[in-house]
Amino acid sequence: MIHLNIYSPVEEIKHPLFDGKQVKVFVKRDDLIHPFISGNKWRKLKYILLKAKAENKNHLVTFGGAFSNHLVATACAAAKFGFKSTGIVRGENVQNEVLLFCRLFGMELQFVDRIPYRNKEQLFKEKFSGDDQAFFINEGGAGPEGIKGCAELMDEFDDTYDHIICAAGTGTTAAGILNGIKKQGLNTQLHVIPVLKNAGFIENEITRNIAEPANLKLHLNYHFGGYAKTDPELFRFMQSFASATGILTDPVYTGKLFYALVDLITTNYFKPHSKMLTIHTGGLLGITGMKDKISPIVF
Ligand SMILES: *Cc1c(COP(=O)(O)O)cnc(C)c1O
Repeated sequence: MIHLNIYSPVEEIKHPLFDGKQVKVFVKRDDLIHPFISGNKWRKLKYILLKAKAENKNHLVTFGGAFSNHLVATACAAAKFGFKSTGIVRGENVQNEVLLFCRLFGMELQFVDRIPYRNKEQLFKEKFSGDDQAFFINEGGAGPEGIKGCAELMDEFDDTYDHIICAAGTGTTAAGILNGIKKQGLNTQLHVIPVLKNAGFIENEITRNIAEPANLKLHLNYHFGGYAKTDPELFRFMQSFASATGILTDPVYTGKLFYALVDLITTNYFKPHSKMLTIHTGGLLGITGMKDKISPIVF
């Protein structure tokens, strides 16, 4: 069976800033779902794996950069649920902690140049046409199954919130949450922090299947230069936030998310007495990809 007991409690984050601005901030700890099938990656994989099983496929093939949380999540989930796995990795052959874990979970890695990597369907056809067990999973777990899995997050609350805030790469997680908000007829406003530059396009990605995205707001200025781009201010923020709250963030997604949250609260974007929920989507292995940059800042 494809099933994980989900442990993702909601906790209030106590911080003098939040008290001073009279707002209440909660966090959905999706980072606690699993150490390797982390956060939204489990939610996105769930219905993909069910589909693979339903089609009697036993070999998962997926794609990612050398620090992809999705690759390691797929490697672990494949091992746990009885699949073989292959990861197609963008760029030259490298070694790092994320790929080490992929290999420990038995994933076979193939490195592909950036240009051919762009056409994933084509690559899959070329490499796996002879393997009728091979099952294509898009980069990041994007797609309708992923959206469906992420929407389930909205079924796990006893409480309602004025605002929900999450980070976005492909926007699949945000689309799921927005679907969940609609389905339940809530007035909750969804705030999305894209981690890429020029990410206005994500709005279409998120709203494609949703008639009236009135309660969606994108905040486009918290990307720190683009995907996986950082600066010392972000690292210092991650340290001060972790030391004040006990919650670790990563430099690619959740560091930017919580930075944005704190900045928006500081500049009085949210009304006093607002109740908000941030989604901690996990991905803490991302810290290992930047340890050489982070260390000089935080030591
Ligand atoms: C992959 C990932 C995201 C991005 O999710 P999308 O559904 O692609 O927008 C956000 N946070 C973390 C920690 C991730 O690993």
